[in-house]
Amino acid sequence: MRRLWILIGFWGTAVAWLGAQEHPFSTFFSDHTLRVDYYHAGTAAREEIVLEALYRLEGWPGSRVNLIDTLNRGHYLLRVFDHRTQQLIYSRGFSTLFNEWQTTEEAKNGGRKIIHETVRVPFPKRPILVEIVSRDKKNRFTQIIFSGVIDPKDGSIRAERRDSNVRVHPLLENGAPEKHVDVVIIGEGFRAEEWEGFVGRARALVDTLFTLSPFKEYRSRFNVYAIMVPSPESGTDDPRAGVFKQTPLNTSFNTFGLQRYLMTYDNRRLQDIASAVPYDAIMILVNTRKYGGGGVYNLYACTAAFHQWTPYVFVHEFGHSFAGLGDEYYTSRVAYSEFYPKGTEPWEPNLTALLHPPQVKWQRLVTPGIPIPTPWGKETYDRLNDEFGKKLSEWRRRKVSGEKMKILSRKYRQKIERFFEEHPYQGAVGAFEGAGYASQGLYRPALDCIMFSRTLKGFDPVCTDAIEQMIRFIAR
Ligand SMILES: [Zn+2]
Repeated sequence: MRRLWILIGFWGTAVAWLGAQEHPFSTFFSDHTLRVDYYHAGTAAREEIVLEALYRLEGWPGSRVNLIDTLNRGHYLLRVFDHRTQQLIYSRGFSTLFNEWQTTEEAKNGGRKIIHETVRVPFPKRPILVEIVSRDKKNRFTQIIFSGVIDPKDGSIRAERRDSNVRVHPLLENGAPEKHVDVVIIGEGFRAEEWEGFVGRARALVDTLFTLSPFKEYRSRFNVYAIMVPSPESGTDDPRAGVFKQTPLNTSFNTFGLQRYLMTYDNRRLQDIASAVPYDAIMILVNTRKYGGGGVYNLYACTAAFHQWTPYVFVHEFGHSFAGLGDEYYTSRVAYSEFYPKGTEPWEPNLTALLHPPQVKWQRLVTPGIPIPTPWGKETYDRLNDEFGKKLSEWRRRKVSGEKMKILSRKYRQKIERFFEEHPYQGAVGAFEGAGYASQGLYRPALDCIMFSRTLKGFDPVCTDAIEQMIRFIAR
């Protein structure tokens, strides 16, 4: 009798143990995606989220193992709880155009804005509590700006096929979406007969991306698709030139009044088109020769397809959108940047306010023996920059020919390159002052990087590491 009791006891424990070991993905989720569309509205100081529509999509392209985001990137955090047990079952950091808009003059002058956004969650089996949390001034996730229960049995969840006009061409196929990073490159402003040109350009740019570390080493962990909806017109909007084109994604230059900021607000359309294939990351390639682009973490990257610097912009913007890397460049005239308030550590993995020197947040990658902060001849670099800037504006005033200007740019670029090449800390990791648009108070990990200057020489070791972490997180 006693023995039987022991057996039953053991069996009970075994069942409990097996239950705990059951895959959390299949416990809470099915092999579909819940797309949550909402409006993000507010002012510089206030923000609010209002649900718009729910969709059920085929398949879940993300990881089934890494369900909780441990990377701490992005301005917002999506948190999903099992409603009954209050257990956190999914989370993901992201940024938006809204939080960027909050730093614009329009916002500071009392403006209001409303932007359509989407978050995606593996489709739940039971009701979930969805929270969107914003960072406070100290960059901690403390402000819950949305909280609501979603029942997977809700009859209003839309389940129709999204868009049947999408053309798809796989550029790289390595296996199951949930175990790979799936990148979708969307052609924008290409007419039907320009499809071949788009695919060719996308292929060339993807080839460039995979010549660089760590993408090169992780090539077999990626799937890449080129897709597009044929556009009624060729090109994109350029409001300052009075040019407006009818295109599927409604991209435009001059976003937030910045000519080179080529982006789209048409998130609903973007999501409809992108979901023709499984995707973890979106890149938009716009049919224009003008210089422009942008990238927002876990939203999308956008690049002009045919400018001479396109390969560089393509990789740089992907650094923003895929890995949440910050801009490492600055101008010598701006001491502090409002993007990064003084005394607050940026969440971007490659920027630091160096609040507790000699400790740096990328400590394990720091070159042994290097001084922190790292003296790097900033005055010389700034002087070169200033000389060039002054000459450029003087020559512009005197209407010097474009050819001569090009020579001037090239000469200046060579001087800077020599400065980097002959530098004793070339290739080293330390804390170099001048980053995140600010000349002082913010530090970058290395002398040079794709996030610092217009170069395709590569990402610095800290950026490389941050990208690698993201690949391992998604492709597992
Ligand atoms: Zn940038």
